[in-house]
Amino acid sequence: MATATLQRQTEEVMAASPVRTKVSVAPGDGIGPEIMQATLDILEAAGAELDIETVSLGEKVYLSGITSGIPEDTWQSIRKNKILLKGPVSTPQGKGFKSVNVTLRKSFGLFANVRPCSAYHPYVFSRFPDMDLVIIRENEEDLYAGIEHQHTDEVVQCLKLVSRPGCEKIVRYAFEYARKNNRKRLTCFSKDNIMKQTDGLFHQVFNEIAPEYPEIETNHLIIDIGTARLADTPQMFDVIVTLNLYGDIISDVAAQVSGSVGLAGSANIGDGLAMFEAIHGSAPDIAGQNIGNPSGLIQAAVMMLRHIGQNKVAEKIQNAWLKTLEDGFHTADIYREGSSKRKVSTAAFAEAVIERLGQYPEHFAKAEFIGDSKIVLPPYQRRVPARKELLGTDIFVDWKGKDPDLLAKSLQMAETEHLRLRMITNRGVKVWPNGMEETFLTDHWRCRFQTEDDKPVFFAELIELMQKAAGNGLEVVKMENLYLYDGRQGFSMGQGQ
Ligand code: NAD
Repeated sequence: MATATLQRQTEEVMAASPVRTKVSVAPGDGIGPEIMQATLDILEAAGAELDIETVSLGEKVYLSGITSGIPEDTWQSIRKNKILLKGPVSTPQGKGFKSVNVTLRKSFGLFANVRPCSAYHPYVFSRFPDMDLVIIRENEEDLYAGIEHQHTDEVVQCLKLVSRPGCEKIVRYAFEYARKNNRKRLTCFSKDNIMKQTDGLFHQVFNEIAPEYPEIETNHLIIDIGTARLADTPQMFDVIVTLNLYGDIISDVAAQVSGSVGLAGSANIGDGLAMFEAIHGSAPDIAGQNIGNPSGLIQAAVMMLRHIGQNKVAEKIQNAWLKTLEDGFHTADIYREGSSKRKVSTAAFAEAVIERLGQYPEHFAKAEFIGDSKIVLPPYQRRVPARKELLGTDIFVDWKGKDPDLLAKSLQMAETEHLRLRMITNRGVKVWPNGMEETFLTDHWRCRFQTEDDKPVFFAELIELMQKAAGNGLEVVKMENLYLYDGRQGFSMGQGQ
């Protein structure tokens, strides 16, 4: 018997004796409660076997004094149920609060953010009727590590952290996703021409893993031209894997050019836990008006049902949702004279979907979900540690002067037996020796000390250097050591060095 038929029969038997799944549900802020109610109504009418545990997080929680935006009982509920369906959450601006979304993704190790984006043309207008792509965004690292510091009056810093385990997990997940979903091509987006260490590692891991999936065609694009192509010819992409910030930006671009940011759902996947949400935010500009499009959250709920093995219900909702779009029942964001028939509210859209449960789309391909959508990755294997040699250090100095030669003189007084001042940069551009007078100077100076003969040095000598620098009245705000890893340079050169 064919595997697919056997699988389907097994699923039918399981559907006849369903197991109820406990799910934590957070309505969220802005339009969140409205689109969540619409989604829950559809789930209930479609016969989803769910035990819903409503939890709170977001704006009201922040304002009650819980700075994470997530109360203890919400943490416990999610940890216990392992599934969260979440409405969009507002992050109060300018008050130093961390985003609830980022906190949840990172705290629960939800490393993969899966964001499918398709056009539903001609029913929902899109200039790209053939667009059908999936963005797999790294979800825990990159600039979203959220480690920021003010170093001087004039300069602030945000650390971009990229790890080998993080890259291997997301890149392997993307290949496995492409294989499991019968996708043909995987494109990596990065900016490794500029960020050779961080984005360089991401691209390198992509190249290392690609040969294990010979049936999947691969390519790499620099993020800027990649985004331009995504906005201009999205139909050329199949699956895209990228770092956290780029993934965030390009998934809004992709959703918008497919028809509306209100259409796309996403799954945040970890080893044991998963969170499902729309890709858009809380849309405060239209909150409370019952006009938001619940489709993104409905799509997230369909992904959740597939994740917990309720494929039949997922199919039923997906087909009814497609039929609703075909029948021209559209919320304001996708309503267009000609292709739409009726402009409907959030609640009326949900009613239209519910009325169509059991029906199939006529134009779009009928949704048919077979098998388990879960992807299990092999555990990360740490490599044999590289031979690490300390060559020197970059010290960052807060100095209000304007003449790099003067700063160099003070720094040279801090030199030790082996460490010599090699270079000073200002915002990454070399200003000493032989700087250019046109270079704009801030109060933040990176000063590189290395041994004369590039021989390794003991850490104690760096401490001596710091003490001497402080003794000479220099304010060191940060230190970054310079290492070789198995002879490979683990730091970037200065611009113009
Ligand atoms: P947004 O996505 O909320 O809104 C952008 C624009 O798209 C607005 O004009 C909005 O009306 C429209 N829009 C969004 N979703 C829609 C829908 N379902 N139907 C119809 N129109 C829709 O982005 P923003 O304005 O930049 O952010 C608002 C708040 O949301 C911020 O506090 C932000 O931090 C938060 N946010 C949360 C998430 C999340 O919870 N995952 C994601 C992004 C932003």
